[in-house]
Amino acid sequence: MTPLPAFADNYIWLLQHQQQVLAVDPGDGQAVLQWLAREPGLQLDTILVTHHHADHTGGLSELVQATGARVFGPALEKLPVAHVPVAEGDTVAWGPLQWQVLDVPGHTAGHVAWWAHPEGEAPILFCGDTLFSGGCGRLFEGTAQQMLASLDRLSQLPAQTRVCCAHEYTLSNLRFARAVEPDNLQLAAHEQLCKRRREQGLPTLPTPLGNELDINPFLRSRSPAVRLAIERHTGAPTGDDAGAFAQLRGWKNGFQ
Ligand SMILES: [Zn+2]
Ligand SMILES: [Zn+2]
Repeated sequence: MTPLPAFADNYIWLLQHQQQVLAVDPGDGQAVLQWLAREPGLQLDTILVTHHHADHTGGLSELVQATGARVFGPALEKLPVAHVPVAEGDTVAWGPLQWQVLDVPGHTAGHVAWWAHPEGEAPILFCGDTLFSGGCGRLFEGTAQQMLASLDRLSQLPAQTRVCCAHEYTLSNLRFARAVEPDNLQLAAHEQLCKRRREQGLPTLPTPLGNELDINPFLRSRSPAVRLAIERHTGAPTGDDAGAFAQLRGWKNGFQ
């Protein structure tokens, strides 16, 4: 599994099986074509898309033209190329893998995530801009309630699932996470680990889902420590789960 860096902080995830290559959210077609050119004999045959934003779809036309790859993407969103529309419950076979589609609206209205379990390995999740290490996507087209339900859905996947996010936002997310939970020792340890990785020029991803459940405030918005931190920040009671989540998201939006 290769996180191919693109733009300032995107990752285009690439998987290889024998000569076949699968790409996820190729915002930059040239980056993928250059990678393929360094690996003679490989054929990009499948592209999975999580949502319609240009930094995830900008390379589709070029890649389809150059390789003839088939494109699978959210049924509810418009993409720059013809795609096979998918939604909750659909599966896409690729090599030995069966990709399962999960509807995870919130960042965009039709956002989907892709999950598969390779035999003898930890499962893989491509979650686009829904879940980030230490954070979650902004609510551009959905409600706090939708995003909370989407994150709840992802939280129920096996704990060893490797979470492949579409952006390297980890260190800035963890700075916010520490403001929310200054006493979370696992969070502090994870931040140190990620700092070392970035200093060495390495990605902080993938991250195990089980780790995210321990350190990501947006997966922990019901925990007493996070609730208390939100109340201290806003100076008012948090109300219900969706209300608390919305306040937490709002706090992060204004966090410097
Ligand atoms: Zn996005
Ligand atoms: Zn993005």
